[in-house]
Order: sequence, then C-alpha cells, then structure tokens
Amino acid sequence: MKKIDLRSDTVTLPSPDMKDAMMSAPLGDDVYGEDPTVNQLESYCAALLNKEAAIFAPSGTQSNLLGLMSHCERGDEYIVGQDAHTYKYEGGGAAVLGSIQPQPLEYQAPGIIPIEKIKAAIKPKDNHFARTRLVCLENTQAGVCVPSDYTSQIADLCKTEGLAFHLDGARLFNAVVATGESIESMTHTFDSVSLCLSKGLGAPAGSVLVGSKTLIEKARRWRKVLGGAMRQSGMLAGAGLYALQNNIERLADDHRRAKSLADALRKIGALTVSEHSGVTNMVFVNVPTEKVAQLQLSAQEKNIVLPEGESLRLVTHLDIDDNAIEKVINVFTKTFN
Ligand SMILES: *Cc1c(COP(=O)(O)O)cnc(C)c1O
Repeated sequence: MKKIDLRSDTVTLPSPDMKDAMMSAPLGDDVYGEDPTVNQLESYCAALLNKEAAIFAPSGTQSNLLGLMSHCERGDEYIVGQDAHTYKYEGGGAAVLGSIQPQPLEYQAPGIIPIEKIKAAIKPKDNHFARTRLVCLENTQAGVCVPSDYTSQIADLCKTEGLAFHLDGARLFNAVVATGESIESMTHTFDSVSLCLSKGLGAPAGSVLVGSKTLIEKARRWRKVLGGAMRQSGMLAGAGLYALQNNIERLADDHRRAKSLADALRKIGALTVSEHSGVTNMVFVNVPTEKVAQLQLSAQEKNIVLPEGESLRLVTHLDIDDNAIEKVINVFTKTFN
C-alpha cells in the first residue's frame, strides 16, 4: 500500500523523469564555476525573477543565511516575523553564524507585520543600538499568500530608511500559482529572494538565492565559508531545473486538494479547521486531545502519516493524489462520526 505522508511537502521522492534529468546533467566542479548545470540553474532563476544573478545552495536555511550575511555586517540587525522560518526554525543561524541580531515582531495575520510596528522597531543611529539593516518577509507564510500591496508598502519604507529587503520565498511558487500574479511582480521590490526547490517543486535538495551581482558575489564567499560550496552539484541542480520547468503549474492541483480536504474536515463538528486552510497547499486542523491516539491508529492502518499532536498541519504535494485525499477524509470521518 502506497504511503500517504501529509507531514510536509519536503517528503516527495524524485520522479523517474527527474532522475533521468539528474543522471544526464552535464557536470563540472562548481567551486571553479565549471558545472554547466549549476550555471544554467543559476541563470535560469536570475532570469525568472529578472534579477542580475543567483547562487545555488544546499538548503533553504543556507540560502536565507547567505542573504542575511551578505546584506548585514556584525552588529547589524534584521526585522523579521516572530514565527518566521529564518528567525524560529533556522537554529538562530543569523545570530550564531552572522553576528546579526534579530528583531522579531508579531505577525498580525500570516506574513503581515504591521508597518507601524516595523517603523517603531527601526533603531536610531546611535551607538547604544544595533544598526537596523534589513527587513525580512516570507511568502507564503503559514500557507497564506502575502498581498503585493503590503509588500510594496514595506519596500517603500525600506527605501526611505535605507534598509535592505529580503524575501524568504521557500514556497513563493505556491503564492504565484494561487494568486495568478507574475513571479516578477511578486519579487521586484526585494533585494534578494530565497527559493526552495525541495518543497512543493519536488526536487530532492537545493535552494537558490537571487539578487544583484554584488550581493551574489558576497554570498558566494559566505557559501564557501559555511561549507555549502559543492563540487559536481549539477546532479542536484539538474533536478532543480527539471522541477522549475515541469512542476510549477501543477501546484494548483496541490491547492485544489488541500481545499477539498479542508472543506471536508470543516463538516466534522469535532474539528477546528483554521480559516487559512486550503489557500495554498496547507490545512491546519485541531483535533480534540482525547481523540488524538485513535486518529493516529486509524491513519496508520491506512498507511497515512500525520504529524504528531493535536494541532495538525497537513500538507499536500506531488505524491498526494485525489485517491489519497479521499482516503484521508475517510479516516477522519470514521474517527469522528
Ligand atoms: C523549508 C523552509 C525553509 C528552508 O528550509 P530547508 O529545510 O533548510 O531547505 C525556509 N523558509 C521556509 C518558510 C520554509 O518552509
């Protein structure tokens, strides 16, 4: 029986066609800049976002860190959401490895830090304070698309205040597909954008940081320092290129499936389904504590893997089809009716 794993969109396995692309990728030593496939992936991403340059990194954690470390110096500060990935889920890397102080602020809604709060958090130029240097947003955040008019407001503020503007776009393509906006219109106000190839796009590993030539040159040095400079990484870049060329539009299927899952779970009285469910590929559902064990058991019987606990984030992806969604809905319905 095929495993139905709803814990994350990172669990996908490379398809046979993606593996072919990996096996046939022309290779070289990327530290010498001689891997044709890595070079192709980097120019492909730069062109996609209409920016000057890009750099391939082993993970999204590292490409975000490369962005932060290339914009900020020791003793600088970046403003970021309290629940943002770069702040909360990356081991404090900016502080630990970059000597960059985070200034986290509460999101008012997914992805939205009120502009007044950002303004109030910008430190005066005074030796008492860390130097505020950058604002970091995330799109999608908690499965929700960040509106472009909000992003533009923050971009204007950054310009006025002389701050850099970074986007953690781990799931940017989900936002692109869900809103129907162009990639460029969603990213042109940012100085740097980190894209994950290993989330909904289905590559086994890899992320890309996109920005100006000067910024990416700095990032290339930091990638070496951080141990992220790989050699014949064209095998991974080949998977990434394949993902970008074949797996973007189909994210709409993941969104449709997440929405039908959310709609079905909303009909079950015992469950609380967050209003942000099914906007892109995520469903957030709260299960009564006393039912958690029973739900897990029924799921296991059908080879369905759910996150642990009572507050579940269910994520649709390449390896979840309509039939799988139906099975998942059946397990929930059986457990709660
Ligand atoms: C997954 C993710 C990243 C990067 O994670 P890696 O596992 O290091 O590739 C960054 N930001 C967000 C929002 C993510 O979901």
